[in-house]
Amino acid sequence: MRSRYLFLFSLCFLLLIGLPLLAQNSNSGLQIYAIDVEGGQATLLVTPNGQSMLVDTGWPGFENRDADRIVAAMKLAGVQQIDYLLITHYHRDHVGGIAQLADKVKIVNFIDHGPNLEDADQTRDGYKAYEAAVAKENGKRLTVKPGDKVPVPGLDVQVLTAAREHIANPLPGAGQPNAFCASEPAPPDDVTENPASLGVLVSFGKFRFLDLGDLTKQKEVELMCPNNRIGKVDVFLVSHHGLFQSNSKSLVHAIHPRVAIMNNGPKKGGSPEAWQIVHDSPGLEDLWQLHYAIDSDKSHNSTNNVIANLNDVDGNYIKVVAKQDGSFVVSNSRNNFQKTYAEPKRNPADFGRLPAPAGFDYPKAAIDTITGQYEKPADSRGIEQAASMVAASPLRPTSLN
Ligand SMILES: [Zn+2]
Repeated sequence: MRSRYLFLFSLCFLLLIGLPLLAQNSNSGLQIYAIDVEGGQATLLVTPNGQSMLVDTGWPGFENRDADRIVAAMKLAGVQQIDYLLITHYHRDHVGGIAQLADKVKIVNFIDHGPNLEDADQTRDGYKAYEAAVAKENGKRLTVKPGDKVPVPGLDVQVLTAAREHIANPLPGAGQPNAFCASEPAPPDDVTENPASLGVLVSFGKFRFLDLGDLTKQKEVELMCPNNRIGKVDVFLVSHHGLFQSNSKSLVHAIHPRVAIMNNGPKKGGSPEAWQIVHDSPGLEDLWQLHYAIDSDKSHNSTNNVIANLNDVDGNYIKVVAKQDGSFVVSNSRNNFQKTYAEPKRNPADFGRLPAPAGFDYPKAAIDTITGQYEKPADSRGIEQAASMVAASPLRPTSLN
């Protein structure tokens, strides 16, 4: 009799504790929500283990509109708190919603580029609101600089730019001469908070996501010329809401994104010039938009399927679920349209650009890529050559962690 109770108790325990764990483990992807904050930024990243990082908090005011949308995305992603809040810079459309958000959810760690660098009341107020939120939450504040990492468990979050500085050396596997620099017009000086944006490259296995906040062209060119310090990425969050002051060819074309997501508003961002540069980027498969850009024209907006808000009803988000193998799915919450982007077949020359997952057989994968991608008959001499080239390559990662 007693053993029967024990059995029932064990069964209940398994159902209550085990099933949710199983459900969580079955979600092996990194979730990224590009939340609609009407031409600001709020991007939520949630790892399979439930660690959350939010990049920016949208606007203040609007009766908690942006904070409510962030909380709704957190519910969908299954998280109760923000483990890491990264503020790119102190403009209202990025840090403005911080007090409203902190009233609704717990924020544990705060990541920033340091004090406000713009001589304007708007950014002085933004910085004050940021400091007040850190104090209210009794949060841990971490000011980072280029080359640092944001310590989110399960993600590699590499700081590329901060406080108008950028990484001095290319990332492993990057550093090739950037052919798009020669034709790049000289960018104007920018003394605002935009070029101070804290920009990060987030890697999850082989998947790479780039978010440079509102970094403007002057810093883009310094970061990307004459050599490409970043390498290539899978998903590019189009800088600065798709405004023409950002998104130079020397950045966008060189990083060779497969998918771009533009966090524009109906009447903010989505400049025809920037849209065209992103659209024409070599290798781009789709340009997703948070809004139809009203002030632009039909030929400088993507097809409706990949636009989250057509400006009748708004608040729809774009979601990415990425796997460690580099494949990912992007979906539109307005119409449930979704598209799968398969694990990329890469040129061996690109190989060093990615951190290899544990157990990854490097030379063999390179050979598979050669034979698979170019569909040439496997010539054993070629394979041996390729294997020795990869083994001897300085781009080969020293660690397979
Ligand atoms: Zn902005």
